[in-house]
Amino acid sequence: MAKKVQLGNTDLHVNPIGLGTNAVGGHNLYPNLDEAAGKDLVRTGIENGLNFLDTAFGYGMGRSEELIGEVLKETRKRNEVILATKGSQKKVNDKFVHDNSPANLRHTVEQSLKRLQTDYIDLFYIHFPDESTPKDEAVGALKELKDEGKIRAVGVSNFSMEQLQEANKDGYVDVIQGHYNLINRDAENDYFPYTIENKISFIPYYPFASGILAGKYTKETTFDDFRRGMPHLQGEEFENTLAKVEKLRNIAESKNTEVPHVVLAWYLASKAIDVVIPGAKRSGQVLNNLKALDVELSPAEVQEISGIFS
Ligand code: NAP
Repeated sequence: MAKKVQLGNTDLHVNPIGLGTNAVGGHNLYPNLDEAAGKDLVRTGIENGLNFLDTAFGYGMGRSEELIGEVLKETRKRNEVILATKGSQKKVNDKFVHDNSPANLRHTVEQSLKRLQTDYIDLFYIHFPDESTPKDEAVGALKELKDEGKIRAVGVSNFSMEQLQEANKDGYVDVIQGHYNLINRDAENDYFPYTIENKISFIPYYPFASGILAGKYTKETTFDDFRRGMPHLQGEEFENTLAKVEKLRNIAESKNTEVPHVVLAWYLASKAIDVVIPGAKRSGQVLNNLKALDVELSPAEVQEISGIFS
């Protein structure tokens, strides 16, 4: 069983390999998702030592949360799991918009609690900023929910650095979740100096850059889901990254391991990162990603991987 790590300054302790669940009930992102396979991969993860689940209202507009709630009830593992979810949406004229007002955030948390069939959420994030709510006011509402015991830690996601600083005026932000991976490394300069200094845990999303860094795609791979339009998964950029992934494969093979494991280990070697949340479609992928815990990279290997993608 993996040694648990403290998430930032919180009292949450997690296995550093968590699970991103946008493919569990995220029908708006992936067509033809099999819900039974989604539940199975969550169950497999928690039965094999994974204890950090990342979901959101936006994954299937509540469906991902419902399926996870069912698994936690069926397995009776709620108290062994650190459960993170996100919300900020509100329906206006049949369309979802983001609303960070204290009233909407409180309502959103209450609805998530019902779908997840629990009376507390370990980590609740504002999923996306809105345009008008002062960010310290929005986070102040989450602090109140924390004081009431409805959530245990305060997160924000997709906030710019300026929005994060405003949100953290009173020091209430525990975690920020943002886009970061080997091929999109802006956060190293933009966020990490601030998050490290303020003991805010940075949780990177898209750790496999939507799959390409897991090492199994070829030039012929095509996509029929929300990845279809992604610029880095087509044309020259796609081929350039595939060539870099081959260099990673050499490093992985020299260590008797696989590409996804060295990629995840590389993130965990960063001072800014406590935990990663790779997504998965099948339980085999979840089990496979847990093997990253056995991989230790030397400082020279960390540098080498960094250099391949610099
Ligand atoms: P990702 O983790 O970069 O890539 C996941 C994909 O990689 C899987 O769907 C699978 O794709 C492939 N994969 C995973 N493990 C593998 C393995 N061991 N071997 C081979 N392939 C493997 O992308 P993501 O799932 O979109 O992002 C991760 C999580 O971040 C999400 O689930 C979600 O919780 C969170 N997220 C948050 C935000 C936000 O706004 N806060 C935005 C995006 C994502 P295939 O099987 O299809 O090839």
